[in-house]
Amino acid sequence: MKKISELLDESVRSVGIAGHVRPDGDCVGTCMGLYLYLKQEYPKLAVDVYLDHPKQDFAYIQNFDEIQMEADDTKVYDLFITCDVSSPDRIGLAETMFAHAKRTFCLDHHISNKGFADINHVEGQVSSASEVLYTLLDPEKVTQPVAVAIYTGMIHDTGVFQYSSTTPRTMEIAAKLMATGFDFNKIIDESFYQKSYLQNQIMGRVLTESILFLHGTCIAGIVRKKDMDFYHVDGKDLDGIVSQLRLTKGVEVAVFIYEHDPMQYKVSMRSNGRVDVSRVALYFGGGGHTRAAGCDMSGTAYDVLNNLAEQIEKQLLKG
Ligand code: AMP
Ligand code: MN
Ligand code: MN
Repeated sequence: MKKISELLDESVRSVGIAGHVRPDGDCVGTCMGLYLYLKQEYPKLAVDVYLDHPKQDFAYIQNFDEIQMEADDTKVYDLFITCDVSSPDRIGLAETMFAHAKRTFCLDHHISNKGFADINHVEGQVSSASEVLYTLLDPEKVTQPVAVAIYTGMIHDTGVFQYSSTTPRTMEIAAKLMATGFDFNKIIDESFYQKSYLQNQIMGRVLTESILFLHGTCIAGIVRKKDMDFYHVDGKDLDGIVSQLRLTKGVEVAVFIYEHDPMQYKVSMRSNGRVDVSRVALYFGGGGHTRAAGCDMSGTAYDVLNNLAEQIEKQLLKG
């Protein structure tokens, strides 16, 4: 597919858009960029966007208050589009609406994505789903509100143009977005770097208590349920911890796990290149990218880390 307009023939009167569970910046940015673009360019279209409790940090994106946080499973959309969703079990609240839709389209950038919609546009090498979205739009029609949403997605999945997935094309697109004239410095600070006092406190504690393993090539950080309750934080408050762990000298893989329910851990992994963490995540039923991946695992923290270490070590020994 070359352009999003190819999907929107006469028969399409309603469109649903959704991202993945625990929506991150790229997910919010892609869904909102597409939502704003469709509303602007196709005013007769009935468009809805569904996201499961996105962070208020993104409230500067235009029409953020129109995001629906509950599904309406009676709705049958002519077209349903998932953005930044690597597999159907990650659709979350929109799963039934997706299943009932007349046609489905998947816009993504996860190499683990096998293509689960009627039409799939997956570019596994592209740094963000937002960047993929931009290439499907008419650049002349990317107004400032659309640009703000897409730029948000791009900075979040590239770590502000720092990760190895950033390409000259990423920068060219960012430049075009920036030329629409928004306050990019404020967006970067307030949506990406800024932490609350409690978020910084818990990050400090995780770093202090982090564990090196596999001869210093791996580092792990753990947050248990009781710590989350003590600091009054949830999973969204722990963003950025795994990226900080990855910056430890000598480390190939950073693992961060947090216990969202008793003995149930959300696992985040980041690699500096030697290990393909998406393979490790896939082994445990998750997915992601070569340098950033995740999965859900159960057991004690030490069970989880031992099982992960075994899979990581296999790759370290080979390469
Ligand atoms: P995270 O560590 O949660 O920031 O996720 C890093 C990457 O891995 C993202 O691209 C996610 O889409 C993907 N990912 C995280 N958790 C899972 C999961 N349980 N299943 C599939 N993909 C995941
Ligand atoms: Mn995402
Ligand atoms: Mn993404």
